[in-house]
Amino acid sequence: MITPKKCPICGKPAVEKFRPFCSSRCADVDLNRWFTGAYVIPARDDEPFPENGLPDADEDENF
Ligand SMILES: [Zn+2]
Repeated sequence: MITPKKCPICGKPAVEKFRPFCSSRCADVDLNRWFTGAYVIPARDDEPFPENGLPDADEDENF
């Protein structure tokens, strides 16, 4: 059983030709949102950024 996808813009059932949208107009609206920055790309905290100094800063203690 296939559940029809809904247009993320207006909520109407999506049309195959304009998936995932219901029309080219809604596809344009979505595109404009990207260009205007309405969609915020979620930043992830997975990236290992060292916050305290450099990783090899303590090497000199061996001497
Ligand atoms: Zn739509």
